[in-house]
Amino acid sequence: MGSSFPKKIISGTCVDLSFEGKGVFKGEGQAIFVDGMFIGEEGEVEIAYKRNGALFGNIKKLRKISPDRIQPRCKICHACGGCCFQQLAYPAQLAFKSSKVAEQFRRLAKMKVEVAPCIGMDDPYYYRNKIQMPFGKDDRGNVYCGFYKASTHVIVPVEECFIEDKRSRPILDACKKLFKSMRIEPYNEDARTGIIRHVLIKTSYYKPEIMVVLVTAVDSFPGRNNLVKALLKECPEITTVIQNINPRSTSVILGEKERVLYGKGFIEDSLCGVLFQISAKSFYQTNPVMTEKLYSYAMQAAHLRGQEVVFDAYSGIGTIGLIAAKDAKQVISVEIVKQAVQDGIRNAKRNRINNFLMYCDDASSFMVKMAEKGETVDVLFMDPPRKGSDERFLKAALKLRPKRIVYVSCDPSTLARDVAYLAKAYKVESVQPFDMFPQTFHVETVVALSLK
Ligand code: SAH
Repeated sequence: MGSSFPKKIISGTCVDLSFEGKGVFKGEGQAIFVDGMFIGEEGEVEIAYKRNGALFGNIKKLRKISPDRIQPRCKICHACGGCCFQQLAYPAQLAFKSSKVAEQFRRLAKMKVEVAPCIGMDDPYYYRNKIQMPFGKDDRGNVYCGFYKASTHVIVPVEECFIEDKRSRPILDACKKLFKSMRIEPYNEDARTGIIRHVLIKTSYYKPEIMVVLVTAVDSFPGRNNLVKALLKECPEITTVIQNINPRSTSVILGEKERVLYGKGFIEDSLCGVLFQISAKSFYQTNPVMTEKLYSYAMQAAHLRGQEVVFDAYSGIGTIGLIAAKDAKQVISVEIVKQAVQDGIRNAKRNRINNFLMYCDDASSFMVKMAEKGETVDVLFMDPPRKGSDERFLKAALKLRPKRIVYVSCDPSTLARDVAYLAKAYKVESVQPFDMFPQTFHVETVVALSLK
C-alpha cells in the first residue's frame, strides 16, 4: 500500500484510461488514477493514497455517466483487483485493448502500425481454466479463500467469481468446509503458521478432467489421506490431486517438491485438434476458447507449406510447435521449465508427432547457439513471458534471418520494444489483439513479421 494521504475531494473529469485500466481523472490541477471510472465521466473523487509519486482515489459522486457503464455482475470486482472492467460494456473493453496496443507502438517503438480490432469472446465470462487462491481463517473459525488485495498479504474473500470455470467453485467450497471440519489450518503469512497456502485448480475444456493442487507449507500433515478421500467424495469430478510443498516465505505460489496424492498427476486437454498433457507447474493458456482462435491465427500468419523448419521459442508444453508440426518439415522448441519440457516431449509422443524436437534451455542462449552454428530456420514463433525477450535473443534472430516471425505477446509494451528492434530487418505485416482476459485490462497480441 502507498502512504496514507490527507483525505481530499477533487472535482473533475475522467479523460483517459491507464494501461492498467484505471480512469485518469483530472481536476483542480491534479491527476488521479481511479478504479471503475471511465472516459467522459464527471464527478468528485476522493484522494486515497499516493504510490510511486502517483495519486490514487475513489469515486465519491458521478455527475455525468459514460454510456459504456454497465451493472457489474460481481459486487467486489474492484476490491478483489481482478476485474477492473466489469462495469465497462464489452465493446468498449475491446476498443480499449486495440487502442492501448497502438499507443504502445507509437510511444515505445515510435512506429505507426495498423492495429486490427481486438477479437473478443461471444460470452466473456466463466472462461478461466486455472484458478489459484490463498486461504485464510476469520475470528469465528470460518475458512475463506479469495484474492490478495493489490500489493498486500490481505485476502479479499471471494464467494463467487464470474470469470473462473464454473466447475471450480464447488471444489473451493468443499475445501473451505473440509479444512474447517478437519482442522487443517490455512497458512498465516505473518505468523508463518498453518498448513494450506493455496489451492490451485486446473480444468480441462474438452475432457471431464480436473486437477486440484494443495499447496502446503509443510511436507506432511495429519489427516492428509482423509482429506483427499473426503474431497473426492464431495467432488467426484476431480480426477487428480497433487500436493505441492512450498516452505519458503515468498510470493511465488508453487514450491519445488510435489507429490501425487490421487490420479495421474496431470490432466489432458486439446487445442486445435492436438492433445496436451498439463502438469501442475507447466504453463498453459488460461482461456481455452480464445487460445484456439489465437493459435489458428498464428498458424495462418506463419504461412506454413509443409517444407519449413519451424522454431518455437518460450514454448511451454509445446503447444504452438506441436500444432505447427503437421504443416512443417521440422519443429524445434525451447522452454526453460523442465516439467513443461517433459510434458512437451510426452505430448509429441501422445499425438504421434515425429518431426518435433524440444530442448530445456534459456531461449536466448539457445538462439545464440543456433545462430553461431549457422542453422536454418524458416519460421520463428516466439511467445515470451511478460518481460518480453532480450537483446541476445533478438540479435540472434536477426542473424538467423527466418523468413517470417510470429510474435505472440501478453504485454504490449515489451512487444512494441522488441518489434522495434526486429523492424531493422522485418516488416510488420499485421498486429492482431485477442481478448484472452475479458473483464481485465490484459491483452494478448499476435504480430506477423516478414523479412524485408
Ligand atoms: N507458447 C506457450 C507458452 C507461453 S508462456 C503457450 O502458448 O502455451 C511463456 C513461456 O516461456 C513459459 O512456459 C515460461 O516457462 C517460458 N520461459 C520464461 N522464460 C524463459 C526463458 N528465458 N527461456 C525459455 N523459456 C522461458
